[in-house]
Amino acid sequence: MLEAINLQKRYHQGEIDVVAVDHFTYRFPAGLTAIVGPSGSGKTTLLNLLAGFDVPSEGEVRMGSIPLSALTEDGRSEVRLKYMGFVFQQWNLIPTLTALENVAFPMMLAGVSPKERTARAAALLEAVGLGQRARHLPSKLSGGEQQRVAIARALALNPPILFADEPTGNLDSASGARVVELLLQQAQEGRTVILVTHDLELARKADRILRLRDGRLVEIEEATSATPTASSIR
Ligand code: ADP
Ligand code: MG
Repeated sequence: MLEAINLQKRYHQGEIDVVAVDHFTYRFPAGLTAIVGPSGSGKTTLLNLLAGFDVPSEGEVRMGSIPLSALTEDGRSEVRLKYMGFVFQQWNLIPTLTALENVAFPMMLAGVSPKERTARAAALLEAVGLGQRARHLPSKLSGGEQQRVAIARALALNPPILFADEPTGNLDSASGARVVELLLQQAQEGRTVILVTHDLELARKADRILRLRDGRLVEIEEATSATPTASSIR
């Protein structure tokens, strides 16, 4: 459903040309795909291109039959609201809203009735193990709990594609593992889940690992069986 074709993103920094993403081609299957690579290897830039927050210098991203770059900014926003959920480190919860209201928020934007969105938000919080925390403000929740609220919020409109950029960044390892378990569960339900992480131990739980180096996809490791096979493509 989500496909990147010959994606390239260049930035001009004065005299210097930075190629942040370099001829990246990949069709994302359903399941959990981890993207790993050193800092500066282009992971966040790639995610921003895949989600249509940013447009490539060359190549294209296709959502089914729709090339994202053929759409207007509003068109891409609409695609995001309809098809994509996000769990980003920097996308904090709204501090003045309760956990339940935060999860209900995207449904409000989408015009879901108050009754329906309250019921669904409660069910989603239950599903991430926070049924008892629905009335709490984010400041009363731990980092791990806040990130689970963010996952519930990302799932509010039942998106087929879920993006997570370093979602376990500030968490202790137990909370981080729980967050990845939840992402894995979404993947098992048939979603396409794309997880950027520098944590190799967490990445190993994914169905496959894509390795980036200097913006290039240098390795795809499929975890098809108990013994993963590595295929080096460059
Ligand atoms: P990662 O997420 O893997 O750490 P990034 O995608 O953030 O990597 O960055 C990849 C490269 O692109 C880096 O060299 C970074 O400095 C550069 N870069 C990212 N965003 C910009 C920008 N807005 N302007 C200029 N250079 C950028
Ligand atoms: Mg990054």
